[in-house]
Amino acid sequence: MKRLAILALAAALPLAAHAAGKTELTWYGHAAFVLKTPGGTVLAIDPWLSNPTSPDKEAAGKLEKVDFIIVTHAHADHVGDAVAIAKRTGAKLVGGFDLANALIQEGYPKEQATAMTSGNIGGTIALNDEVSVTIVPASHSSGIRKDGAPVSYGGNPTGALIHVKGGPTVYHTGDTDVTSDMKLVGDRWRIDYMLACIGGHFTMDPQGAATAAQLTRAKTVIPMHYGTFPLLKGTPDALEKAIKTARVNAKVAAMKIGETRTL
Ligand SMILES: [Zn+2]
Repeated sequence: MKRLAILALAAALPLAAHAAGKTELTWYGHAAFVLKTPGGTVLAIDPWLSNPTSPDKEAAGKLEKVDFIIVTHAHADHVGDAVAIAKRTGAKLVGGFDLANALIQEGYPKEQATAMTSGNIGGTIALNDEVSVTIVPASHSSGIRKDGAPVSYGGNPTGALIHVKGGPTVYHTGDTDVTSDMKLVGDRWRIDYMLACIGGHFTMDPQGAATAAQLTRAKTVIPMHYGTFPLLKGTPDALEKAIKTARVNAKVAAMKIGETRTL
């Protein structure tokens, strides 16, 4: 029995070594994050790196390697610097199929925004052997409007679950209210980190985000989409209070803008 146990342990070692690798998350303010996996895959999410709270408005030009860009919906505060980053790094677009077509009209290189990496709600897209992304619903809107032009179609708004093999599953909610769909998201996947909008006005507020944490059973909530403009009034403190009051079993782990955290 002992020998068998040792053999089993030896077989598990390569997996353990992989799991010990680090997944790193950097927040650039608003809904913009960059995630680096142990295997070296770099994903930018809603990369408005030049947002008003960003300490470095030129950050988009400084990213050396980006493999994929996840865009949750077509609004300018989420598309952000995606086109410029894609042109410079060759990053492929991950998101809704209609959004991909809309962003090609906005200048995203079309060979980097194909159906290989764009999908639709309910789909899980394997980006490589280590990372896959599931597109989930968000309750919001997604029109493109530029310089007073009429609104053009940008596909459905979405959230994204990023699954790192041997690492965390990270749920970026996109812009949304709390919805009963979130319970299904939590039933189907283990959510290690929920990057949750809390600003209110255009999205759920801290109270809503606390309910979202309850529904998804997320272990840790990282608040986002607040403080960028005066209208986005939600705060991490208010989220913390709402989570305590509702006795939700989730940790609030607010990040500083520009901070990199190991997940
Ligand atoms: Zn937004």
